[in-house]
Amino acid sequence: MRALVFHEPKSISVDDVARPQPQQGEALVRVAAAAICHSDIRVYNGLKHAKPGVIPGHEIAGVVEEAGDGVRGVAEGDRVVVCPIVACGRCPFCLRGLRHRCQERQTLGYDGDGGLAEYVLAPASLVASGHLLPVPDGLALDRASLTEPLACVLNSLETCAVGAGASLVIIGGGPMGLLHLLLARHLGAGKVIVSEPEEERANVARRLGASAVIDPAREDLAAAVRERTQGLGADAAVVTAGLADVVADSLACVRPLGVVNLFAGFPPETSVPFDPNVVHYAEIRLTGSQNASLDQYRRVLQLLPGLPEIDEVTTHRFPLAEATEAYAVRLRGEGLKSMVVME
Ligand SMILES: [Zn+2]
Ligand SMILES: [Zn+2]
Repeated sequence: MRALVFHEPKSISVDDVARPQPQQGEALVRVAAAAICHSDIRVYNGLKHAKPGVIPGHEIAGVVEEAGDGVRGVAEGDRVVVCPIVACGRCPFCLRGLRHRCQERQTLGYDGDGGLAEYVLAPASLVASGHLLPVPDGLALDRASLTEPLACVLNSLETCAVGAGASLVIIGGGPMGLLHLLLARHLGAGKVIVSEPEEERANVARRLGASAVIDPAREDLAAAVRERTQGLGADAAVVTAGLADVVADSLACVRPLGVVNLFAGFPPETSVPFDPNVVHYAEIRLTGSQNASLDQYRRVLQLLPGLPEIDEVTTHRFPLAEATEAYAVRLRGEGLKSMVVME
């Protein structure tokens, strides 16, 4: 089969590799769509680890082609989304239902082969623990492949307790910032303010319903937020751009008892100066979030059919043969999100 292979930082190619044969408990999924994540680009740039020789791609939707002996719960022909986390099921986090925090966690696309290929093999433990999730009827598989990033966003918003009527500041209007905007609006957030200097991204944010888009290079973000929140600051702020100097800005955007969530990954060894008294006296909660629980994946799949605007985030689509170009447009910073779609 054809697959994109990550050889080492700055080196990827579309190669012929052996098509996996599902053994006992495993399932072979024919990939319909696999989206490229910013973390794939971080791996490409050598800022995040992945196993040399691995097939990247962890945002995957497809159809079960073949189920090995003993597979229960999914059958050939089922349309599925792959939750790419392989967890032990026994560690203190798995026992709390938080498999994405598993102490022995392996992730398809980093430690094991992922979805930028004609087929992806779902390991037995992944199949047995329900990580092949059924795609609701009527939900196209290309949109379904955005389940993983949107589940991460749901985890982020729930970490910040953003619900009906909440005010939220999103720092960064890239794909993940825009997914925060979409989902926050869908969940009934009141005011959603996006900080984004690039005009093209700012326009998408306006189209997707941002209450205001602030260019932080031209306007004092915290002052602009206070102006729009009765002088108080927002209930929550999410940092979706891994830039050290935006952390202090985000702390200045929230009201007393507000929450700041560091959603983005930062370059290794980043250190951030901020005034701890801001956190102390205003009782601000500074937290992080990464990935999502299986329950959040499940719930996102139920709400994705009602979010057709999400297609606006997928600005570039490529066939598998041109998967390296899907990376190249991301490296050049064109548009928002690249997706590899099989014909
Ligand atoms: Zn991702
Ligand atoms: Zn575990």
